[in-house]
Amino acid sequence: MSDTQSKQRLTFKGGRPPAPEAEPWPVLVVDDDPQVHAMTRVLLRDFDFQARGFQVISAHSAAEAREILAARDDLPVMLLDVVMETDDAGLGLARYVREELGNHRLRIILRTGQPGEAPERRVMLDYDINDYRSKTDLTAQKMFTAMVAALRSWTHIATIEGLNATLEARVAERTRELEEARAFAERLVEMLPNPVWLKDERGRYRLYNRAFREFFAIGPTAWHGRTAAEVLGEHLPVEEMETDATLMSGGGERLDYEMSMPDVTGMPRALMVSKSLLRLGDGEPHGLVAVATDITERKGLERELRRLATVDPLTGAFNRRYFLSAAVQEMERAARYGTPLAVMMVDIDHFKRINDLHGHALGDEVLKQVVEVCRANLREVDVFARLGGEEFAALLPQTAMPGAHGLAERLRRAVAEMLVPIAGQDVRVTISVGVAERHSDETRFDHLLGRADQALYCAKQAGRDRVEISASRG
Ligand code: GH3
Ligand code: MG
Ligand code: MG
Repeated sequence: MSDTQSKQRLTFKGGRPPAPEAEPWPVLVVDDDPQVHAMTRVLLRDFDFQARGFQVISAHSAAEAREILAARDDLPVMLLDVVMETDDAGLGLARYVREELGNHRLRIILRTGQPGEAPERRVMLDYDINDYRSKTDLTAQKMFTAMVAALRSWTHIATIEGLNATLEARVAERTRELEEARAFAERLVEMLPNPVWLKDERGRYRLYNRAFREFFAIGPTAWHGRTAAEVLGEHLPVEEMETDATLMSGGGERLDYEMSMPDVTGMPRALMVSKSLLRLGDGEPHGLVAVATDITERKGLERELRRLATVDPLTGAFNRRYFLSAAVQEMERAARYGTPLAVMMVDIDHFKRINDLHGHALGDEVLKQVVEVCRANLREVDVFARLGGEEFAALLPQTAMPGAHGLAERLRRAVAEMLVPIAGQDVRVTISVGVAERHSDETRFDHLLGRADQALYCAKQAGRDRVEISASRG
């Protein structure tokens, strides 16, 4: 069979299905007099209420009625005799319904044979007996009005109970959702690797998580209700107070900043903190919530990366790139303030031989030692760099030619006097140096460096282990 066929079979083709016969209202009649049952049936036979007829359910004793009532709580009305097995069997049943079954919906209409059997008012109220009629009083009309009043009342109660049940279910569901959300937030905050804390509007700690407790090595409630100034004393970072004050005085919703503070071992940690106002239902700021990220390692790595980007790994001298960018700045400064600027080119003599004789590794050692000696003879402001191979350069700010020349001689001599112990013997190396001073109208560094290189070439030509200077103009 195809899909379409099966669908068609399931579709109802004749419009709306006919409404089922409306269920009659069940009415429980409790009486030890069989005639009362018969009479009630006759009376109710021709009535209907809200298009529903009546169905009499008979119990001939209070005991029989208890069984019926215990089994079903959907009965709306009970017509109840007072005197049956005992003088107060009817009232006993009413008490049973209200107190033991807890059924407050069932409408109870008492019927008595004798006016003297009527219960006291207090009993009527206690057991919520809704109507009281003498048996002789129950004409068709009175029976109908009593029944209608009881059914209306029952319907209202049933509706209200239904609404209450729905409301209670909703409240329970909402409560559960809120509890869930709260538990989730609590667990999440506790699990976070970042310290998180909450302060009230007067700066007192209200909550903090595991990472926070570990940072300060404190117990779960140690700082609760206390201020940062109280607990941190001299270790209190100024930023902590400043940012609190800024936010609480309306200076924004959120602040991000970096600060340093010692951890529990006294080690300074770099922290990145995000702090935000905490607004509650009334929209007013009731405190601050903050989260810190430990960026100490990142900071260290950044520093290291910056250093690696500027330094030659073998010798520790600055690298070519850093040298050239520093040179551009020094050129500009010299031009702007009219201060002198000199540059030296340094090249190790016959370095190839050292490599050939002693091997590349020892050549490296010589490079390092030469750099060390040169740097020891230079100032802090001088920039000494390895431009490549065994070729170096020094940038000498605020230095004119006589000074630069003298410095170059000092370097040359210091290197020449240096002894590098290699395989039991002391090896000597020499350097050649070319020096140039910036011309007052010289703006391009490559020209200045080119002139120093030319002077270096002259030094090599003239026999090495020498300093040559680039001639000044005019
Ligand atoms: P000159 O006096 O004319 O400068 O002669 P030189 O041998 O020093 O010059 P040359 O440019 O011919 O040779 C430089 C040598 O430096 C060649 C190369 O193998 C060596 N060299 C360059 N970089 C390094 C390095 O990082 N380590 C070592 N051990 N040797 C290097
Ligand atoms: Mg050389
Ligand atoms: Mg060379």
